[in-house]
Amino acid sequence: MAKMCPKCRSKEIDLYMGGNFGQYQCNKCGYVGALVLEEETEKKPKRFKL
Ligand SMILES: [Zn+2]
Repeated sequence: MAKMCPKCRSKEIDLYMGGNFGQYQCNKCGYVGALVLEEETEKKPKRFKL
């Protein structure tokens, strides 16, 4: 899964300080935090037939 910045939705996310703090840093907008979005690379269409 690709990590995405929750602020600007950029995929240029790296571990902040080498991941020592369990946080991520966005290279695009400068966001730093533990919360990141994860984009599923595989599309799993869920279709419910009633
Ligand atoms: Zn960002």
